[in-house]
Order: sequence, then structure tokens, then C-alpha cells
Amino acid sequence: MDALLVVNAGSSSLKFQVFATTDTGLERRVRGQIGGIGTRPRLQAKGADGAVLVDRSYDADVVRDLPAAIAVARDWLLTLEGFTLRAIGHRVVHGGPDFAEPVLIDAAVLDRLASYQDLAPLHQPNNLAPIRQAMAINPDVPQVACFDTAFHHGHPEQVNCYAMPRSFYDEGVRRYGFHGLSYEYVAERLRELAPEAARGRVIVAHLGSGASMCALRNGHSIESTMGFTALDGLPMGTRPGQLDPGVVLYLILQRGMSAQVVSDLLYHEAGLKGLSGVSNDMRDLLASDDPHAKLAVDHFVYRCGLNAGMLAAALGGIDAFVFTAGVGENSAPIRARIAEGLAWLGAELDPTANDAGAMLISAPASRVALYLIPTDEELMIARHTLALLRTRTA
Ligand code: ADP
Repeated sequence: MDALLVVNAGSSSLKFQVFATTDTGLERRVRGQIGGIGTRPRLQAKGADGAVLVDRSYDADVVRDLPAAIAVARDWLLTLEGFTLRAIGHRVVHGGPDFAEPVLIDAAVLDRLASYQDLAPLHQPNNLAPIRQAMAINPDVPQVACFDTAFHHGHPEQVNCYAMPRSFYDEGVRRYGFHGLSYEYVAERLRELAPEAARGRVIVAHLGSGASMCALRNGHSIESTMGFTALDGLPMGTRPGQLDPGVVLYLILQRGMSAQVVSDLLYHEAGLKGLSGVSNDMRDLLASDDPHAKLAVDHFVYRCGLNAGMLAAALGGIDAFVFTAGVGENSAPIRARIAEGLAWLGAELDPTANDAGAMLISAPASRVALYLIPTDEELMIARHTLALLRTRTA
């Protein structure tokens, strides 16, 4: 059976999925990951029916880095019978100023993507590592890069510029926006589920351990809360969201912190984790009676409301608001509190539908339709990969 492999490689985890390509489209067959790379490596994978296919722990010095994890995952994937690998689709965080859509990778494209490493130093090198490895081992298997930035490509300059000297924009210091594969999937799903709403003014809130919002007009991104990096916008699990750059100057100039220490602070120690001192996980915060946990949740909800207001201004009003990703899909109380903050825009929640996790969670009289739509970035990558594969063989 022909199959596509979808790869999402980070510094501490390597996620992968196998999709069978059938006459009717794509069928997910395997969902797996190696987590705890370099600390407590563990390979886990499940089949389409949820059955555990593998659950194996490794010594930290055996799977000490991403290349080692890729080798372990590859060895395990090769034991799967009945699949013929036709292509590999990769999540690549940065498509830089150039890539507006997924691209078939060759040596020249890989060089271009590597040149964006300075724009996303924590993510891009990890995203490119499995591409290089697969290219070396099996250059005949086509590989496709799918970007988190691409969906936001084409924002006019007044939207994606910073008020900085021109030369910085020209060298790539722009507001790119991220989570694009998630927004693209949700936009497609909304078109299927509620075509009229999808044609209107929509805010999608991707609330996971990373969090952002995107303003859609007729299914196209017109604004995002994220900017040059995935640090901007909403407070996240371990990232602060919008921060006065003066704070960074203070940390470096007055407190004498090195750029590396500040970077670690902003990516790994801030956000809900830093503010609460309890956890980066919304479930822990909601369950805690520590006042700082409550503060972190209040801050998150407040900033979601503020950012929704900003995007509503960009859209000139809103017709629908969509919740997605870990917090958005699973936490009825957080959805309820964010919806309360949208009341001034005409949103009214249906608490029963919200508690039940229904697709439409607004009251019939609500002037803003509220939706809950689970995201599926891997399926989006598989679709793009299949589409490019078919143009190549057409
Ligand atoms: P990512 O893909 O960015 O790692 P997810 O979209 O999977 O993140 O979201 C993970 C986050 O979702 C967790 O850190 C947790 O805070 C949150 N989450 C998951 N389930 C719940 C729940 N039932 N209630 C509140 N938060 C939840």
C-alpha cells in the first residue's frame, strides 16, 4: 500500500505519522513520537484504532540527540509491513519572506531553507535535520516542506512591517505569523461545516502550549497575533507573549543577563509557568488553589480578550470565533471565560453545548457564532504532500 510519512521534528521530540494513500484520499495508519530526546527517550506509536504498536524506553546516551532519534524512528518504521513509502512531508517552521506555499525539496530549496535559520534558530535546524538525513539515505523519495508561516504570506506591508528602519524589513525582520498549518486546516474544516460563516470575518484561537490567534476574511489570513518569532502575542505555556522590548534591554543592560540566558527565559521559563510558579499546563493551573495559578489563568483569559479585540478591529467586526488546539479543544471553562470576554462583540455561549464539546457552542441568539474545531496539522501536511506528489507525477 502506498504511504506518506509526516514528520514534525523538534529539539526534544520527533513526531511522525503514516498515512495510507487510497483511491478516496488519505487514511491515518500510525501516529507516533520519540519524546524526551537526550533525557528520557521513549518511542511510542499507536495504530489507527488506538492500539499500541510500540512503547519502548531508551538510555539517554543512546538517543542523545535528534539525529539519533531519527535513526531509531526510521529503524522502527522499516519494521512496518505492507507500506511503500511514496513521499515524506515535513513541518518546517519558517518559509522566510519567499515561500507562500509548500514546496518540493531539492538541494537548492534546502539551501534557501537553511538560510532562514537565523530567523528561527531554535526550530529551523531541527526541522531540516530529518530532511537532510532522508535525502542522504534515500534521495529518490520526494520530500515536501510545509511551513507554519506560509498561510500568512501576502499580508500587506503595513500589516507585516515593524516601525523600524527599512533595511531591517529588507533583511527579513517582519511579522510572519505562525501556526499557519493549523489555521489552514481549521479554515478548510469551517468551510465544510459552516460555509457561510467561513466566508465571513472569523477569528481562530489556536490555544495549545504555543498559542496565537488569526484573523480570517473569507478563509484567508489577514492578521496574526504572532510576529517575527513565535514569542509574540498571547501568553503561552512557557513564553510570555507580547512583551515591551524594553524589558529585554533591562535584563541585558541592567541585570547583566547574557542573550542566551534571556532567550532561555523567554522560550522556556516565562508564560504560564513563570507567572504561576506552578506549571505550564493549563490543567494543573485550573486544578490548583495557589493564587498565582489563578493569576496566570486570569492573565491568559484577559490577554485572549485583548488580542481578540485587536483582531476584531483588523476585521472590522466578527461573524465567528473558533477555538482549537489543546486548551481550546479540551477546556470548557477556559472557552466559557474567553467567550464572556467577547460579549461586547455580540457573542453568547450555549453552556450546555460548550460543556458537551459540541461543534457549535454559541446560543441561537448569539450575533457571533462560536465553534469548537479540533485542529489536525499533520493531516494538512499529508494533504499538501499528496497534492505536490500528484502534480509531480501528472
Ligand atoms: P502543542 O501541540 O503546542 O504541544 P497542544 O495543542 O497539544 O500543544 O496543547 C497542549 C496543552 O493543552 C497542554 O499543555 C495543556 O495545557 C492543554 N490541555 C490539554 N487538555 C486540557 C484540558 N482538559 N484542560 C485544560 N487544558 C488542557
